[in-house]
Amino acid sequence: MTRDSRFDVLFEPVKIGPVTAPNRFYQVPHASGMTNALPRVRAAFRETKAEGGWGVICTGACSIDPSSDDAPLPFATMWDLNDIHAHALMTDAVHRHGSLAGVELWHGGASVMNRQSRLPPLSPSGIPWMATHVGFMGNMRPKVMDKSDIKAVLRWQAEGARKARTAGFDIVYVYAGMGYLGYEFLLPEYNHRTDEYGGSIENRVRFVREMLDVTRDAVGKDCGVALRVSLEELRGRPGRNQPSEAHELIEILSDYADLFDVKMDSSPTDCSASRFTGEASHEPVIDFVKKLTDKPVVGVGRFTSPDTMVSQIRRGVLDFIGGARPSIADPFLPNKIREGRAEEIRECIGCNICISSWHDGVPVRCTQNPTAGEEWRRGWHPERVEPAHQKEKILVIGGGPAGLECALTLGRRGHEVTLADAGKAFGGRLAFETRLPGLATWGRVVDYRLGRLNEMPNVSMYLESQLGVDEIIDLAPDHVVLATGAHWTRMLYSSLEIPVGTLEHPEVYTPDDIAAGHLPEGPTLVFDFDNYYYGGVLTEHLASKGIPVSYVTPAGQASAWTIMTNELPLVHRALARRQVPVTTLHMVTGFDGEKATLTHLFTGEQMTIDCRSVLIVGLRMPRTELQEALAARQDELSAAGIRSVTAIGDALSPGAITHAVHSGHKFAREHGSIGLPQYYKRDTPIVDREPGFELRAAAE
Ligand code: ADP
Ligand code: SF4
Repeated sequence: MTRDSRFDVLFEPVKIGPVTAPNRFYQVPHASGMTNALPRVRAAFRETKAEGGWGVICTGACSIDPSSDDAPLPFATMWDLNDIHAHALMTDAVHRHGSLAGVELWHGGASVMNRQSRLPPLSPSGIPWMATHVGFMGNMRPKVMDKSDIKAVLRWQAEGARKARTAGFDIVYVYAGMGYLGYEFLLPEYNHRTDEYGGSIENRVRFVREMLDVTRDAVGKDCGVALRVSLEELRGRPGRNQPSEAHELIEILSDYADLFDVKMDSSPTDCSASRFTGEASHEPVIDFVKKLTDKPVVGVGRFTSPDTMVSQIRRGVLDFIGGARPSIADPFLPNKIREGRAEEIRECIGCNICISSWHDGVPVRCTQNPTAGEEWRRGWHPERVEPAHQKEKILVIGGGPAGLECALTLGRRGHEVTLADAGKAFGGRLAFETRLPGLATWGRVVDYRLGRLNEMPNVSMYLESQLGVDEIIDLAPDHVVLATGAHWTRMLYSSLEIPVGTLEHPEVYTPDDIAAGHLPEGPTLVFDFDNYYYGGVLTEHLASKGIPVSYVTPAGQASAWTIMTNELPLVHRALARRQVPVTTLHMVTGFDGEKATLTHLFTGEQMTIDCRSVLIVGLRMPRTELQEALAARQDELSAAGIRSVTAIGDALSPGAITHAVHSGHKFAREHGSIGLPQYYKRDTPIVDREPGFELRAAAE
């Protein structure tokens, strides 16, 4: 296929100081959960994107000194020779595909708690970041930096830059965003200094300017020097000579960096979930930057549409199309546009499960791309699968995320696949959930897979096909895959923090009832101990139908787990906008049709809320009826030539959509492989040889 010529502009080379990017696709620095302890996992993850056509590939935050220590959150380091070797695996891998490698050198300032290094965090004026969520809280307040501290940070940046050059990086960052040290100097709330580093915008910019200077002195002949800066707050502050302080900052620094990487100020706005924010959402904040500098500008906005990308370039908003999430969801996005296959892009759905991986401290997971993070340790490539050694007839029952992904990957391997679903549309849980407030973009999970499946001659798909044991025996496949999903229960919750008992009353509902089209009589109480998005979204859904709703959870916040996906502040805003009262730390313990009894999780004190119905978003259990019925007739299955029955996705263990997709992919990849089930290869840090190691090894 040939590409549409209007996308040609995306494939122009662009200079970044002394180096040249081969095209305008720029994978901006983003967290991957892959520290220097996982150097091969990390190198393969980044390499896959270079192979897929991203012209620039960057690391995530890379600490320049142990006084910038974010543990237990994962972060990379550039402290010593081992670190240089660990990063060199990545730069070599990226260079193999002709892309540039960038490193986001980073000092966290007052935003890190130095839990591991136990050094005092550094800050311009001793002002800490006082997080409201326990995962980010710390109880060490930062030290006020004196002049020798400032000099030390400048020295660490220069040393970090030199190490980065030795490791093979082409672009070296100064980081002044997202609450970290450089940013703290820029904002008067953090920076109360009365010396030349505080006060006017010229003074507040001084530290960042000096960081750029030392970086350029250290590596500027060989590497591009990039400034990553958050502009959201500064854009809101009137400047003296310019419309805002953000304008003044860019004007002052316009010649100090070879590239400006511009962004928002906090994770929930910078990396906002699609539930609340659309594509190109940063534009109103960063649209002015190119007018004030001749240097190239990169920005993000969950870009997946080539037309939007071209528009950003043509309208002079950006020079590079920055991508973090779109590059995780589809490492081959640039090549697909280049080859005229844009409809094959696995578009990011903006669920932010990838970000939750960083908060969890594990390698990145992605809902759309089950191979993300598995490139090295499981040997999974997003665009290549191993052809089946022996082509078999495989019946996949259930066309939700797990079944669709499984059928697609089995089909790609060349098997003869039948996919059957009882429903009127494919998508499983998503067939309903994508109709709920803010979740339409999640439909891309279904659309991408159906698009590919429809092109496959070896896959047959059937809707409105409820299959039981007789039908399965009649079809007589070689293998049966049960992707039949899970159901929500009416179980309650105990002070032991486990589900217990059930609430029996005709006006008690589960999400399955709502999905089946029932609207409870209001006022309705939503009791949520699932804690992810669904309780909050269903509350919004009922409120949008005019039903008075109140929301109760034993957790400390509404949709508490959504802190992991950057959604939590926006969930609270959404519930407040719909005037939903939120009660936390309470369990529903009774309901008589007119009022629900709530019990405090810790004190046991009781209260009541008037309501006519209760919706419990609590425990989900696998649908096992078909599995059990099949097991009871094993002899007949064997006689029909059915060699295996395997449950995947929610039918195996209910979870987020990302887990269902991964489960479906895993089955399809591993089906028919010889030998024991493979777990994954374990990566090891690159370390100097321990003295005495050989002696001990010999003695064993
Ligand atoms: P997952 O997230 O694991 O993919 P879902 O709940 O989203 O699970 O999807 C399960 C799908 O399985 C639903 O679309 C449902 O209609 C379908 N299904 C369940 N039981 C049967 C069955 N016996 N025959 C055909 N389809 C079934
Ligand atoms: Fe996009 Fe979700 Fe994948 Fe992150 S996990 S890249 S938000 S699809």
